[in-house]
Amino acid sequence: MRHQLRSVAFLAAPLLGGLTLAATPALFELRLAAQAQAPAAPAAAPAQPQGKPEDTEVYEPVPKVVTPGPSVGAPPSDAIVLFDGTNLDQWVTTKDKSPAKWTVANGILTVDKKAGNIETKRNFKNYQLHLEWRVPEGVTGTGQARGNSGVFLAATSPGDGGYELQILDSYENKTYVNGQAASIYKQGIPLANASRKPGEWQVYDVVWTAPTFNADGTVKTPARVTAFHNGVLVQNNFELKGETLYIGQPVYKKYDTAPIKLQAHGDPSPPVSFRNIWVRELP
Ligand code: MG
Repeated sequence: MRHQLRSVAFLAAPLLGGLTLAATPALFELRLAAQAQAPAAPAAAPAQPQGKPEDTEVYEPVPKVVTPGPSVGAPPSDAIVLFDGTNLDQWVTTKDKSPAKWTVANGILTVDKKAGNIETKRNFKNYQLHLEWRVPEGVTGTGQARGNSGVFLAATSPGDGGYELQILDSYENKTYVNGQAASIYKQGIPLANASRKPGEWQVYDVVWTAPTFNADGTVKTPARVTAFHNGVLVQNNFELKGETLYIGQPVYKKYDTAPIKLQAHGDPSPPVSFRNIWVRELP
């Protein structure tokens, strides 16, 4: 019956153009009736779970207990506090490893451009970093010359050597997009511009996975970074092509562990400030 009805509909189809409007709905009704009578395909039987619930329950290794900070952004119990507002004991001047000379006042660290970059005394490999920064209200300049600083996620050589997560006033300040705030400098365009106005504190939360190298210096696994700017995802497991360079293509240079470095950029705009910097080492 179903086959016959379908055949009728099929044979009638080329004739439809020549039929009166009154005849056409009847043919469609015939077709619909045939479909309605078609037996439903048998439903597949649901797969029966095999085994017991306990087969997939894992009890080791037990995650270590980390007591979170009293508020979001405060250092958790296993953090290494790099700056708590009081001193620069964890930092040295990059160029000569002398005590860091930036200004600490009222719980805030401010870049001293004459003193140059500063970096942590400790070396790190993989880690989670929290850092708060502020471009001063009334900042001057344009493009890259407006509130420029940066956090080098691994400082592999003096000066600006390493892997820079850019700090810049990118609130209504146009520059090349792979050099704006939250970019991996000249490599990774941020996924969003989450910049606050000059004068307001901003937050970076970063997960850094260091590159690994073979014995001959070639790259085994590239560096990766995930970053949030003021809680907004800006780098999503981004794979770096090498160190971030001002001029030229990025290249890798073998290293194992490295300090974290803050940039004293040479632009003439008023200096950037920092507060509440901590890091958690990761496996
Ligand atoms: Mg910079």
